[in-house]
Amino acid sequence: MPDTIIAPVIPTAPVTPAVLEALRTIVGDKGLILDEQGKQPFVTDWRGTNIGTAAVVVRPANTEEVSRVVKLCFDNGIAIVPQGGNTGLMGGATPWPTHSGILLSLGRMNHVLDVDPVGYSMTVEAGCVLQTLQETAAGHDRFFPLSLGAQGSCMIGGNLSTNAGGVQVLRYGNARNLVMGLEVVLPNGDVWNGLRSLKKDNTGYDLKHLFMGAEGTLGIITKAVLKLWPAPKDVCTAWLAIRDPQAAIEILSEAHAASDDNVGSCELMSRACTDMVLRHIPGTQDPLKADTPWFLLLEWSSSRPKAEGAEGMSDKMEQFLGEQLESGRVLDAVIAQSEAQARNMWVIRESVAPASRAEGPGLSYDISVSISKIPAFIEKGIKASLDILPSIRPYPLGHIGDGNLHFSFMGPKGMDRETLKQYSPAITRAVNDLVRDMAGSISAEHGIGIDKIDELAHYRSRIELDTMRSLKRALDPKNIMNPGKILRL
Ligand SMILES: Cc1cc2nc3c(=O)[nH]c(=O)nc-3n(C[C@H](O)[C@H](O)[C@H](O)COP(=O)(O)OP(=O)(O)OC[C@H]3O[C@@H](n4cnc5c(N)ncnc54)[C@H](O)[C@@H]3O)c2cc1C
Repeated sequence: MPDTIIAPVIPTAPVTPAVLEALRTIVGDKGLILDEQGKQPFVTDWRGTNIGTAAVVVRPANTEEVSRVVKLCFDNGIAIVPQGGNTGLMGGATPWPTHSGILLSLGRMNHVLDVDPVGYSMTVEAGCVLQTLQETAAGHDRFFPLSLGAQGSCMIGGNLSTNAGGVQVLRYGNARNLVMGLEVVLPNGDVWNGLRSLKKDNTGYDLKHLFMGAEGTLGIITKAVLKLWPAPKDVCTAWLAIRDPQAAIEILSEAHAASDDNVGSCELMSRACTDMVLRHIPGTQDPLKADTPWFLLLEWSSSRPKAEGAEGMSDKMEQFLGEQLESGRVLDAVIAQSEAQARNMWVIRESVAPASRAEGPGLSYDISVSISKIPAFIEKGIKASLDILPSIRPYPLGHIGDGNLHFSFMGPKGMDRETLKQYSPAITRAVNDLVRDMAGSISAEHGIGIDKIDELAHYRSRIELDTMRSLKRALDPKNIMNPGKILRL
């Protein structure tokens, strides 16, 4: 729990022996975890920095059980923390230390209910692991594009509740763009069945969008109808040593036309990040030994298979990279010649978060600005941070096609977590003020949770905050649904 954040006032009604028995009746013994050791992984966040408590972890098996559990909690004023894969990075799935209620894990609700390859959709339960859904779609020659480093353990309900981004947003949009319908258990236990497979539906307010990005504060997503796309058949992945971040955005800008609108991903990596991965993650190899502080992972993909003798993605990429070398934006480049080589490039990109955990204490900001402002943001943001702590080590990287930077720093060598924390408020203010001055967002894709609750209150307007509070109070009048997350109220 960040030391600088004071716990908000949240409901404290206890789980009495009578309530516990009622929970047991609903979910059975295998749906309850009561021992401290068993609860530990659920009440500790992925980074191991937010640690909370829960009277009991409740693991319902279906929507009806979720509904009955929530109704029981509503009647007794008991707070609920919903949780999927517990990979969120803002503490949204972790109970506050003052939490006296339940943690509701969706992990047992992991069934794919229907795949409609002709209609390009699938209906799934909230506890399905993201990677399983990608594989299910691929098994039907279809593509579910949501893709992120935690995909082996995060769950679709968590992805939708955080409106996750990842490495395909550039082409397919955030998680909320991948959804046609939802089923949600509301804070009073009512089930809203919005499981419609409709691309067009202008029947009043689009309620599903309220719950996506709400981080479990307005209800529990239990099922979703997801959109599918044609499976990629011709994919080209390249690792580019580039001049600087300005070159990165110019390369991206020209890549759209050069690829016939087939840019799938465009990830900026600093040398510091790639070196950190190579240091900590066994089996990773440097794709290009180039002397530059900046790299770009560029992937183009088409659903049309490369025909014999015809120009494919890699031919187009080769020609494009030649032009970019001539322009001086690209200094050197390598095109993956096999799936294993492409995979190695992706492993490097996706291992930055685990590598940073191994490297030691750090500070991380998940920000967005408009794409053309990225180079200026990196320059000014690093300077502002170094002015406060000259020996802090910048580790920037980002989904630059979305204007999203993971603007991260590792603490100075040898500095412990506690000492680094003393600098955190000043650096956070400097970075987030810069975000505001450049008309950006202080949370591009990770959400608010606990960690940014005061930053949201600081940077959002009174009108926005009041409107959010009105929505929260209307749907959750007892403030039992993930209380003290996003808003203090
Ligand atoms: C290595 C790594 C890489 C990552 N990369 C990315 C990335 O590229 N892009 C990105 O956006 N994020 C990324 N993340 C963050 C994280 O993976 C995402 O936020 C993910 O969407 C969270 O899913 P989850 O199932 O783990 O959710 P959890 O962590 O369990 O929960 C997240 C939030 O959603 C709520 N919630 C969970 N399930 C439900 C439900 N069914 N109904 C209502 N509320 C619910 C929780 O209460 C909490 O507020 C990364 C994390 C890691 C560890």
